[in-house]
Amino acid sequence: EGARRYFVGGNWKCNGALEFNKFLIEDVINKLEFDPAKVDVIVAPTTLHIAMAKVMVADNVKVASQNVSLYGTGAYTGEIAAEQLTDFGIEWVIIGHSERRALYGEANETVGTKVSNALEAGLNVILCIGETLEQRESNSTNDVLKEQLDACKESVKDWSKVVIAYEPVWAIGTGKVATPEQAQETHAYIRQWMAENVSEEVGAATRIIYGGSVNDKNCGDLINQSEIDGFLVGGASLKLAFQKIVSTAS
Ligand code: PEP
Repeated sequence: EGARRYFVGGNWKCNGALEFNKFLIEDVINKLEFDPAKVDVIVAPTTLHIAMAKVMVADNVKVASQNVSLYGTGAYTGEIAAEQLTDFGIEWVIIGHSERRALYGEANETVGTKVSNALEAGLNVILCIGETLEQRESNSTNDVLKEQLDACKESVKDWSKVVIAYEPVWAIGTGKVATPEQAQETHAYIRQWMAENVSEEVGAATRIIYGGSVNDKNCGDLINQSEIDGFLVGGASLKLAFQKIVSTAS
């Protein structure tokens, strides 16, 4: 506790266009009020808009990729390799988002390999994990999270380069946010996994952020939970609400 700097990420998903991004960066992102010593702020535009965001965002905001190739450079049409991201000056990548798992068939093993490649290339990783509603209702949340984490265990040598985003699938884009107690309890389980599988020390130092329908109204109660170290924000990161969310965490 205390040692974990807050972390707020804005995942723009497949949203944005030149005019809109200009507004979002100039009027929302570049007017964020936060202390970089207390909170890391990153935004993840589409791959097409990374370059634009990178030249436009204020120095205290980092631009992330929403995905990375499973492979290196070469004959992989349509992909972007981890070393191309680092070459371009990108420091962060989101891996294992539930939309990629559900819509693009990313299995736990794929996520593990991507994490490994990304870290080897020098990227920092926002590793997304989370259970479906069915899994929560059948009390298998911790088992699901354990499988997702186990698949990445051998991929990570240095956990200081990883932020874990707990994102219950039933809360993403649904307006149905986890209660602060649900998030606290689940984050505590993730930290317990870390203590058992890595070390107590690393578990205590690793940032675990919450994602799933976070907005300017619910962020305050969530951040008050001791196990919540920040947020991964989808919908609300495209709005003025993002300013309130960042200031709440700083
Ligand atoms: C996300 O995409 O990671 C997310 C949490 O989305 P939303 O905030 O819209 O639920």
